[in-house]
Amino acid sequence: MAQRYYIETYGCQMNVADAELMGGVLRREGHERVDDPALADVLIVNTCAIREHAEERVLGRIGQLNRHKLERPDVRLGVAGCVAKELGRELLDRATYVDFVIGPDSYRHLPEVLERVEAGQRVVHDRFNRSENYEDLPPFRLERSSAWVTIMRGCDKFCSYCIVPFTRGREKCRAVEAILEEVRRAVDEGAVEVTLLGQNVNSYRDAGRDFPDLLAAVAGIRGLERLRFTTSHPWDFTPRLVAVIAEHGNVMDHVHLPVQSGSDRILAAMRREYTNEWYRERVSMLREAVPECALSTDVIVGFPGETAADFEATVALMEDIRFNSAYVFLYSPRPHTPAKELADRVPRRTAVERLERLNELQRAIGGAYLRRKVGTRQGVLVHGPAPRGVGLLTGWTEQRETVVFPGDPSLIGKIVSVDVTGLAGITLHGTPRRAERTGSGSVLELPVLAG
Ligand code: SF4
Repeated sequence: MAQRYYIETYGCQMNVADAELMGGVLRREGHERVDDPALADVLIVNTCAIREHAEERVLGRIGQLNRHKLERPDVRLGVAGCVAKELGRELLDRATYVDFVIGPDSYRHLPEVLERVEAGQRVVHDRFNRSENYEDLPPFRLERSSAWVTIMRGCDKFCSYCIVPFTRGREKCRAVEAILEEVRRAVDEGAVEVTLLGQNVNSYRDAGRDFPDLLAAVAGIRGLERLRFTTSHPWDFTPRLVAVIAEHGNVMDHVHLPVQSGSDRILAAMRREYTNEWYRERVSMLREAVPECALSTDVIVGFPGETAADFEATVALMEDIRFNSAYVFLYSPRPHTPAKELADRVPRRTAVERLERLNELQRAIGGAYLRRKVGTRQGVLVHGPAPRGVGLLTGWTEQRETVVFPGDPSLIGKIVSVDVTGLAGITLHGTPRRAERTGSGSVLELPVLAG
């Protein structure tokens, strides 16, 4: 029986892509997506387990969604994603109103899981499956112009703080041909931008081909104007990859390269496989080959045993490298991870002070970088209406900065040339040019509203 489904997604882009995968599976069965949980017959909370207290947050949210079941007893409630895999059957015990728990390798089985639920069972389907890559299951994309394409699942790195290898399993790479086919289809359906996704895309391998080979092949697809990839591990960030970024104009000048710490001692305790010097060399190599390349990173503060000197090494690294943006996190002890057993915990107040100091430093560095964009002209891929302001659109530059400008909604999904005129917080503001060139070379006359 056709049902209406609602998926609420937390966490990384892999989860966003998995929500589209689940959407594809459900729509093949004739089910229809709705945006409002009050209208849905099947509610799925697609969860993230990266941070501390993730489990409590999931239990809190499904407790709220349970009110729809209380109002309409035929509503079904399920939990997907990393917390589903982490807790499994325990979720059924802790939340007696949950009907099914489905892990990241089981989304193909959603229809049969729902059938069993209709037959009165409470179902857990959360086993790892070494061969599941969903090759034959097209996602139901929520956005036409910008597509996520998963190239690999899982991770073999086992960084000492990270739960991902325990919730998403070991690395599994999709076949090159299947990825190329999916990107071609996305472009045919209107994608201007594609982001290749994986926990560590740089370790991609298939039949003797590596990530630089794949990136070059995808970049060659006719009509693909913008190509991105995330996330990268510094250890696998090679000169060949840098060469491919430099060679292909449609590979965007933005790399996210998580550093996590500037201290070699802490990097070793994190099992990150590289040193401060190694990381700096990767950045130099990238900036030499692609001078305009924006660089973003992740940093963890308060990792067990992090001394004031270790923290100062991170501060020094951030001052030297001057990232365009940085996501700074407090260390979170997670189940199954070796770091959770480390005794030398940093007091929370100290960790918070370190977090605030790095955020302040990054605000200054990032702000200075963004101010230099004022007065430049940027190609902006228009994403949609701006969240605030009438007649305003929002989109992003090649380096992934957000730009707001006045424009007609017919521009959504197109690349528009915008003169940047100001900066508010971390958002650039601008005015669109009247005659525009798209990345494919055609010239577009814009219905300009202002400027
Ligand atoms: S590379 Fe490390 S931090 Fe990233 S997903 Fe794998 S184990 Fe986690």
